[in-house]
Amino acid sequence: MASTATEPLRTRVLGVPVSVCPDVFAAALALRQRSGGQIVTLNAEMTMAAKADPALGAAIAAASLVIPDGAGVVWALGRQGYRVRRSPGIELARDLLTHAASHGWRVALVGASPEVMEQLTARLRQELPGLKLVLHAHGYQPAEAWPGLEQQLLAARPDLVLAALGVPRQETWIQQLPGRSGGLWMGVGGSFDVWAGVKKRAPAWMGALQIEWLYRLIQEPSRWRRMLSLPKFAWEVLRQG
Ligand code: UDP
Repeated sequence: MASTATEPLRTRVLGVPVSVCPDVFAAALALRQRSGGQIVTLNAEMTMAAKADPALGAAIAAASLVIPDGAGVVWALGRQGYRVRRSPGIELARDLLTHAASHGWRVALVGASPEVMEQLTARLRQELPGLKLVLHAHGYQPAEAWPGLEQQLLAARPDLVLAALGVPRQETWIQQLPGRSGGLWMGVGGSFDVWAGVKKRAPAWMGALQIEWLYRLIQEPSRWRRMLSLPKFAWEVLRQG
């Protein structure tokens, strides 16, 4: 089956499903039209995490759209003969927010620190004045606050939910939400921190050289242990031939 803009083809990288599609934004809008569902942005680190963590693996397998966000996944797909562009999740999420603002979508934002959430909502009110924000909540709520928050979220019938809770929590949280239906639900990692101006994205030249991971490591040296999975990913892809 050929991949089209709205009906992505599904393949696997190291056993983890990923969608191959020429235009992830068009695919996301088509998904919203059809039934809504979960969007996952897959990179090499997450692929390795999914192999080791059944809950994350199950969440990715159950997602409606898994986009290749990361040079490693794009490279692995290329070795299978699929020519795809890298689709950074932060860019898809921003395009969806802009679309939401101009189409009256009901939007919910969950995650990041209380300070980041405050700065983010203030910025979004300025940058996207039409945005209909039906719920926003930071990601450091006490455990007993979550069930109520989830009920509120579901009752708000959002068209778009962006969750910045980190991998794997954001993916498993979305997947396990009882009664979730309709709307697009997407984990966005550190995007809120970037949009709030607290963290920076790697400069474009580093993206072009496919060394965004290095920029991330310099900004957050504590990530080094997680990043050991990158050479393991490359080795396993090469071993598969
Ligand atoms: N975060 C959160 N609650 C938590 C842990 C993390 O809201 O209990 C937020 C954190 O503040 C940050 C995002 O989740 O905004 C995770 O960003 P990171 O860059 O670590 O994402 P990942 O690389 O895990 O996708």
